[in-house]
Amino acid sequence: MEPKISRTKEEWRKELAPEKFHVLIEKGTEPPFTGKFNKFDREGVYVCAACGQELFRSDEKYDSGSGWPSFWTPISNDKVELRPDNSLGMHRTEVVCSRCGGHLGHVFDDGPQPSRERYCINSLALEFEEGKG
Ligand code: FE
Repeated sequence: MEPKISRTKEEWRKELAPEKFHVLIEKGTEPPFTGKFNKFDREGVYVCAACGQELFRSDEKYDSGSGWPSFWTPISNDKVELRPDNSLGMHRTEVVCSRCGGHLGHVFDDGPQPSRERYCINSLALEFEEGKG
């Protein structure tokens, strides 16, 4: 695994655009059907918009209809950390980048085979690198 990155909230605020800071650091959620990767099917790799760690591949992306980019698996399980999230009166599982701790989205158990998992990820938490992977 790559080394962990640790920065203060104020350091991240200086590095990230305000809308990315809101999602990655303040655990915000972009409105559905607004993100640039919701309807997007180019071949490549999605990396963490905070630290650049490779997280997801286009090969495992699918259209869940949720309004957010959806993947049925990360590139490997060590790229993400899963944390219980009981905010907003719901029991959900938060997905964060394992390298920098940035908030990516949530994972649900209503995905397609073979994993049946749905990684529901904010476009603002990702950058796309064409043709990799
Ligand atoms: Fe990261």
